Amino acid sequence: MKNKIIVHKFSLGAFDVNNYLIYREGASRAILIDAGEDPFPILQKLEALQLELAYLINTHGHGDRIAGNREILERTGAQLFIHEKDAPYLTDPQLNLSAFLGMELTSPPPDRLLQEGDTVELDGLQLSVRHTPGHTPGHIVLVTNHQAFVGDVIFAGSIGRTDLPQGSMNQLIDSIRQKIYTLPDDTVLYPGHGPNTTVGQEKRTNPFVNG
Ligand SMILES: [Zn+2]
Repeated sequence: MKNKIIVHKFSLGAFDVNNYLIYREGASRAILIDAGEDPFPILQKLEALQLELAYLINTHGHGDRIAGNREILERTGAQLFIHEKDAPYLTDPQLNLSAFLGMELTSPPPDRLLQEGDTVELDGLQLSVRHTPGHTPGHIVLVTNHQAFVGDVIFAGSIGRTDLPQGSMNQLIDSIRQKIYTLPDDTVLYPGHGPNTTVGQEKRTNPFVNG
């Protein structure tokens, strides 16, 4: 069956940041969602599968998401996508919080700015962009058929932090209710940290949204 979406999950760096390499079964090009520090295992996997990386999409601009951007982009020639409101994070270590860890991280600039309602399309794989502010102003989740890559918006049994600069708890809860809980219950959620979950599971049990 050639319609299957293949998802490889990588947990990278000191913060165990989940990165997802995805492609349509049988395709020769892939998309990477987020790039944590020391992304060597991702490069290795691309080579092992003989896949070309076409796009790197950052769910948001925090340092732990973009730490591997430069290496991935330089080694693969992929294009970088991010929401327009988080684009400034790429080149500002204060905004992306790396300055507070003494790292002064920056990324190359984006090739495309994404907005609510956009579609990213590659070799039969279609990702629709939903703008989900709250953790950062330009956070996005990427939705394909019964699968959603949700970054730091929602986790299994938890939600993203809103105590960081430009965070908003009200916005985050609205984003979850309007942009994630409106997906079918069997939609698999691939979060930025920790194990996968589903929309139905979180609707039933997530104490931060239901309480
Ligand atoms: Zn974050």
